Amino acid sequence: MRDSFGRRERPRRLGRRLLLWVILLAVVLGGGWILWSGTGGPTARLARPIDVVGQATPLEVSLGAGRAGLASYEIMARRPDGSLVLLAEEQIAQDGMLGSGVAVRTVRLDLDAKALGLPEGPGEIQVYATDHAPTAFLHPREPLLQIPIRVDLSPPRIRVLGAQHYVSRGGSDLVVYEVDQDAATSGVEVADLHFEGQRPPHLPENIRVALYTVPHDAESAVVPKVSAVDAAGNRRVVSFPVEVRAKTFPSEEIAVGDGFIDGTVRPLLEANDKPVPDDAVEAFLAVNSVMRRASERLLKDLTAESRPHLSLSGAFRQQPGTKVGSRFAERRSYVYDDQVIDHQYHLGYDLASVKQTPILAAQTGTVAAAVDLGIYGNVVLIDHGLGLSSLYAHLSSTSVEAGDAVEVGQPVGRSGQTGLASGDHLHFSVLVGGEHVDPIEWWDPRWVRLRIQEPLSEAGQSDALPQPGSTR
Ligand SMILES: [Zn+2]
Repeated sequence: MRDSFGRRERPRRLGRRLLLWVILLAVVLGGGWILWSGTGGPTARLARPIDVVGQATPLEVSLGAGRAGLASYEIMARRPDGSLVLLAEEQIAQDGMLGSGVAVRTVRLDLDAKALGLPEGPGEIQVYATDHAPTAFLHPREPLLQIPIRVDLSPPRIRVLGAQHYVSRGGSDLVVYEVDQDAATSGVEVADLHFEGQRPPHLPENIRVALYTVPHDAESAVVPKVSAVDAAGNRRVVSFPVEVRAKTFPSEEIAVGDGFIDGTVRPLLEANDKPVPDDAVEAFLAVNSVMRRASERLLKDLTAESRPHLSLSGAFRQQPGTKVGSRFAERRSYVYDDQVIDHQYHLGYDLASVKQTPILAAQTGTVAAAVDLGIYGNVVLIDHGLGLSSLYAHLSSTSVEAGDAVEVGQPVGRSGQTGLASGDHLHFSVLVGGEHVDPIEWWDPRWVRLRIQEPLSEAGQSDALPQPGSTR
């Protein structure tokens, strides 16, 4: 009996014990899984604050989850009537037993409130997300983020002041315009170039002034326009009366000899830590083409910072007692061994007098740089404000430093032939927004008075635009 009872009882006891162990193991594994997965639920945050949504507003949401990873998200906009517009959604499947493994997801959207049918006025952006954690069902469906927004579909208003504008190819012009206070950026657009408008401190708050150029090599159909964009990305572009005048530029053939390549080109490559090709033409192109491009890029960077106030005591002063060698936008063909090996534009004036002559600042300003600048050799770059600067190149020595205030006519260094120069001379460039322009206009007192000084002083007398919202 006992034996038969024992035989019956032993498997039952074994079974119970096994069950207990299985339950214990399940509790340990399940608890471990829950702890491992994290119980906090998914998170969401904005990479950048957003308060106004317009026709091109970037939205960047960073979603996070525990180790089990994200399972889904939805980003929505709420209209004033309570209805929701889906902006983005995604379901992220499990990858194996333990979750999706997607711990972070960054969602970048470019919101167009008009296309989404969001009316102007208050609204809200909501972000929902779920994760693959075993406790996910415990989290109620509530938005992780609720961001109050204002929908604004109206681009800033622009009113260009003044009468007919004329700008020559390679020449400069000044535009004065009024713009709504909510404009984040504004300026003159010339093809793909943007010349940011500045607010000189002495002018009314909604007045902007922009100096711009139509580059000497711009396409013939190019028409300058004024644009403004607000914080929500609403953009307006307006025309203004402007006539772009054609201009012909001289061309010149320059014979390149071995003496110049060995005496100037190769040493310039060495001085700039560049490889020196054995082939004469390759060495020449490494400087005249490759180093030239690098120098222009650097020059553009150096002119990026400019004061909002134009310091102009009148026309630019031309370096006295000099003979003009080359002019602006002269098209140069370089000939070596009867072969044309390169074409480049000469983007300034070459002015020669005696060697080591003191070089004088053409206009009052602040020294932006006094550096060695590739093909230009030792240069002094002076910022005159509103993106206008002047460059003095190939100097043998400089006597000013970045940050120095200089007066018109003040010596800034001595002429020389550093960089890509075949003799002692001053290379003089004027730049507007980092683009080379013809200095001849800036040397002309009548042009400076009519095109720059008078429009600027008229701007001081202009009536302000009514505040935004009064006449939409
Ligand atoms: Zn030159």
